[in-house]
Amino acid sequence: MKTIACSATVPQGGCEKTVTAATADEAKQMLGAHAQEAHTDMVTSATDEDKTNWGKNFDENVWPNTPDDK
Ligand SMILES: [Zn+2]
Repeated sequence: MKTIACSATVPQGGCEKTVTAATADEAKQMLGAHAQEAHTDMVTSATDEDKTNWGKNFDENVWPNTPDDK
């Protein structure tokens, strides 16, 4: 399991929400659901390209660089 901070995925947000997930897909789902509620403006103003880039960054940088929970 890994614990991912919302702020690790959207540095400009400064949000302290964290999610704990076993897989990158699960973490993305949980953060996506959180963003829909807590960051509605950011979600509604994001383009499809923004969302693709967000997912790519998450898979390539955020998830692999986050250590497993002890
Ligand atoms: Zn957040």
